[in-house]
Amino acid sequence: MDAPALMRAVVIGGGVAGLVAARRLVLGGADVVLLEAADRLGGRVAATELGGVVLDTGAESFAVRGGAVRALVDRLGLGADVQDPAGSAWVALPDRTVPLPSAGLLGIPSSPLATDVIRVLGAGGAARAYVDRLLPVLGVGRYDRLGPLVRRRMGDRVLDRLVAPVVGNVYGADPDEVPLDAVAPGLNAALTRAGTLSGAVLELRAAAPPGAAAQGIAGGVHRLVTALTDGLRAAGVDLRLGSRVIGVHPDPLGGPITVVTAEEDLQADRVVVAADGATALELLADAAPALAALPLPAPARTRAVLLQVPDRRLDAAPRGTGVLRAAGREGVRATAITHLTAKWPWLRDRVEPGTHYLRLSYRGGDEVPDGVAAADAAALLGVDRIAVAARADAVWTDSAPALAPETLAVRSALARTALPAGLTVAGSWVAGTGLASVVAGAERAASLEAPDHPSGSS
Ligand SMILES: Cc1cc2nc3c(=O)[nH]c(=O)nc-3n(C[C@H](O)[C@H](O)[C@H](O)COP(=O)(O)OP(=O)(O)OC[C@H]3O[C@@H](n4cnc5c(N)ncnc54)[C@H](O)[C@@H]3O)c2cc1C
Repeated sequence: MDAPALMRAVVIGGGVAGLVAARRLVLGGADVVLLEAADRLGGRVAATELGGVVLDTGAESFAVRGGAVRALVDRLGLGADVQDPAGSAWVALPDRTVPLPSAGLLGIPSSPLATDVIRVLGAGGAARAYVDRLLPVLGVGRYDRLGPLVRRRMGDRVLDRLVAPVVGNVYGADPDEVPLDAVAPGLNAALTRAGTLSGAVLELRAAAPPGAAAQGIAGGVHRLVTALTDGLRAAGVDLRLGSRVIGVHPDPLGGPITVVTAEEDLQADRVVVAADGATALELLADAAPALAALPLPAPARTRAVLLQVPDRRLDAAPRGTGVLRAAGREGVRATAITHLTAKWPWLRDRVEPGTHYLRLSYRGGDEVPDGVAAADAAALLGVDRIAVAARADAVWTDSAPALAPETLAVRSALARTALPAGLTVAGSWVAGTGLASVVAGAERAASLEAPDHPSGSS
């Protein structure tokens, strides 16, 4: 009897979504080619060398929620290197900079009258947040957006001083536009059970695994890309860099799908499109023309500025792991700073005392003069002046931010679209921002047993 023909699979895009999809396909026995347009793998997980240390320039941690990243990290042999952040973040308010309350969810406090909450909101703001405990129970699904829910139950101060800085930093999104279920799955149901928003937060926190909500990897999260790449090479996956896909053409008669690059046409039984949102929609034009006609949001650009700073005053981690800027804080352009040497034990151990690494985040890709970066770092960390020894920048573009209303509309249209057999889609624009969503989504999209459409979960 003849051996069954090997399934041919093509993965388009070599970010984490594409790498995870390729891994799943090759482990399932497929013959896999991965096509990546750039000259390196990893996409928005990347690194650069600064002052003798290699640092993440994109993702630098992963959410523990769901367990998908941790399971992958363990299978790749990096489990022993997983680290919790050594501390927590602060928030820069219009008039002061204070620690973020410890017991919250997306900034929503579980105890409105706790001392650390009053420090952020003031007595009046905390009293308003406590009104949540007195308001009648909400009907299920009455609020489908995060912002209006928080504002109604706990008031503007909770939204502006806690929730907006956290959601803006993690998701690059405005809480007024963010669907509740996408960023806080289970909160709606917990709200109905508990009867109050603070009670719902308490319930979800109690149900979450103990420990930090996000973790890192000693040496940097980019080690995940190296480990994935090494594993794929060892398993025989054909990794092609500088190979931009320009077309995906399903066979109307159900035969193999044709994947087109400038150099060649490839035939495949399975194709996973794991490119960014705008590119993916172009590539789906033949398979799902109605989708390609839908509008996408304006691309979101962010600039990460990494600084090496010799400064003994920072040894004491004066602002914990870093600071998120709340609206109304004047005189600072950066939206956040991460004090990397305070946050990650592995990095602190790698440098001499008095040497620090900082990462500033800016919305938009505009240039940030050295003086502005240094002044922002000093202002956010509460020191009078910072001298910068070395600097490295990375500018990132997200062509379809996952929580933008237009992207969400395309996602739900995609979920209702019957794509040709063998064709699936992965990546942050369909699965949700962040490695936890991206890894789980790519595993689903590359499942050989039951290829399905993206579920639209975040
Ligand atoms: C500054 C920054 C910080 C972040 N911090 C965190 C964090 O701490 N924790 C966290 O969980 N997440 C974080 N994220 C988000 C996280 O990095 C992303 O959600 C995730 O890496 C996206 O992976 P992806 O594979 O979907 O997309 P990408 O990484 O964008 O990969 C898409 C790939 O497709 C390739 N491609 C595009 N078009 C084509 C084509 N036509 N043919 C072939 N290849 C193509 C691209 O070159 C790219 O390599 C951060 C993101 C940024 C920018």
